[in-house]
Amino acid sequence: MADVITKTSPVSGEKLAEFPITAPEEVEAAVSRARQAFAAWSARPVEQRLATLMKLQVEILARGEDYAARISQDTGKPLVDSLLTELMSIPLFLSHYRKLAPKVLRRRKVATPLYFPGKKSYIEYFPMGVVGVISPWNFPFQLSMVPVISALIAGNTVVLKPSELTPISGEIARELFGLLDLPAGTVEVIQGDGRTGAALCRAEVDKIFFTGSVATGRKVMAAAADKPIPVELELGGKDAMIVCADANLLRAAKGAVWGGLLNCGQVCTSVERIFVESAVFERFVELLEQELAAVRVGGPDERADMGPLVFAGQLETVERHVREARAAGARVVAGGERLDRPGQFYAPTLLLDVTPEMSVYREETFGPVLPLIRVDSVDEAIRLANAHSFGLTASVWTADRARGLSIASRLECGQVMVNDVLSSVGNPALPFGGVKSSGFGRYHGPDGLLTFVHTKAIMVSGDKAASEPFWFPYEKKYADMLETFRFMLGGKLLKALGPLRRLNRINAEAQAARERRPDKG
Ligand code: NAD
Repeated sequence: MADVITKTSPVSGEKLAEFPITAPEEVEAAVSRARQAFAAWSARPVEQRLATLMKLQVEILARGEDYAARISQDTGKPLVDSLLTELMSIPLFLSHYRKLAPKVLRRRKVATPLYFPGKKSYIEYFPMGVVGVISPWNFPFQLSMVPVISALIAGNTVVLKPSELTPISGEIARELFGLLDLPAGTVEVIQGDGRTGAALCRAEVDKIFFTGSVATGRKVMAAAADKPIPVELELGGKDAMIVCADANLLRAAKGAVWGGLLNCGQVCTSVERIFVESAVFERFVELLEQELAAVRVGGPDERADMGPLVFAGQLETVERHVREARAAGARVVAGGERLDRPGQFYAPTLLLDVTPEMSVYREETFGPVLPLIRVDSVDEAIRLANAHSFGLTASVWTADRARGLSIASRLECGQVMVNDVLSSVGNPALPFGGVKSSGFGRYHGPDGLLTFVHTKAIMVSGDKAASEPFWFPYEKKYADMLETFRFMLGGKLLKALGPLRRLNRINAEAQAARERRPDKG
C-alpha cells in the first residue's frame, strides 16, 4: 500500500501535505502500548482522570482560532462551523462529564428482595481495556475527540484511527493528547485508510467504537464478531423533517436551509427528506427559494455560509443523486449543478416532486440538496418517515408543542427535535445514536460513559450463618419450598418469611444431626 496519505485542499484542489500511513504491524504495536498504559490510567480515580483531561479545555480556549483554521483547511468548512460544531463541543462535553461522570461511574446500592434477607446488592462498573475509535471525515475533530474523551473518562486507553480524508484533524488530536499528563500510550493516533482501520479491528482491542458508513460498519461488526468483542456503530441517516400546516413557515424554511446545508449537507443528521402538508406546500417552497438564494457559498477565507464537499467522490454522489432524480421526474427549482470554480463546490439545491423510489430519497446524499415531498396529512408523513432503512434523527414543525411531542414519540429514530434541527446533538446530556441501518448503541450523556464500561453486579451476605435456606440438603425441604414459591409468585413476600425460617431450621437440624454422627465429614 502507498505509505503516505496525500492531502489536497477541498477549496482549491492543491496538494497540502503528506502524512505517513501506519503499517499493520505498527498498529499492533500501538495497541500493545495502549494495553501497557491501561493499568496506570485506569488506576487513577475518575476525578483525577477528569482533572487531567480538563487541560484540553484550557488549550482549546487559548488556541481555538488556530485549531479552527486547521480544521477548515482540512475540510473546507467555514471557520464558524469549525468553532461551533467541532471545537466547542469538547469544552461542553468536558464540563458536562466533570459533574456527571463521578456520579454515573460510582458503585451504587440497589434493592435486594425480601427473600434474600440480610443481603446487600450493588452495581459497579469497570473499564473495558483498550478501545479502538474509528472516525469519519465530516466532523473529523469532534467525532474523534468526543468518543476518545468519553472512553478515557471511563478509564480505558484508546487507539484512534481518523479518516484518511482528513488527516490534519487527526494530527490535531494527536498534538492535543500529547500536551496532557497521560501515561505513555494512553492515546495512540494511527493514520491510514480502510486497511489501517481493518488492522485495528483485527488487533487485540476490547471494544470498537465506529462512526462511518453502513458498508464499513458491517465489516467492522464482522471483525468484532470474530473475537467476539462489543462494538458500537454510529452510521448514516436520512433525517425526516415534517412541516405541519400550522407551523411557523419562515422559521421552518430557515431551519430546513441551515439543517440541510450546514457543513455542505455532510452531516449524518442533515435534513434529507422534507415532508410538507399540502395546504402550505406552495408557500413553503417560495420561502425556501428565498432562503436558499441568500446562502453564500465559498471557502473559509470568504466568510461564506457553506463550503465545498470534502472530497471528489462525495461530489460525484451528489451529482448522481440529482441527475437520477431529474431523470425520474423530479424538478430542480434551485441549484442542481456544481459551481464553476476550482474545488468541490456544489450549488444549494431544491428538488420538488421527489418520490421514494429515487436514489436521492433512498440513499444518504450527504450534500447541499433539499428534497421536498408533498403529503396529504401528518399521518402520511409519519408513515413515510418511518418506512425507511435509516433511523437516526427527525424533526417536527408545528405551533402546537403537545402535538409536536406526540408526533416525536411516533417517529422511529434516535433523536427528534420539535421546531429545530441538528442542535440536539450538541446537548451533552442527551443520548445520541440510531436505530435500523443507522446503527446501535448510544453515546453522549450517561450512556456515553456506560458504553465504555462493563457492568458488574455484586451481592454481599454476612458470614455468621453456616448455610442459606435454598442450599443443600434438599431432603425435607420440598413442602416449604413450594410454600415459599407460592407466596413469592403471589406477591405475598412477607408471608414467604415463615417457610424461609423453616428452611433455615431444617439446615440447622441437618447440621446438628451431622455433628452427632461419629463418622461426620
Ligand atoms: P467510511 O465508512 O467510509 O469510513 C469511516 C472510517 O472507517 C474511516 O476512518 C475509514 O478509513 C475507516 N474504514 C474503512 N474501511 C474500514 C474497514 N474495513 N475496517 C475498519 N475501518 C475502516 O465512512 P465515511 O465516508 O468516512 O463517513 C461518512 C459516513 O459516516 C456517512 O454515512 C455518515 O452518515 C456517517 N456518520 C455517522 C455519524 C453518526 O454519529 N451516526 C456521524 C458522522 C458520520
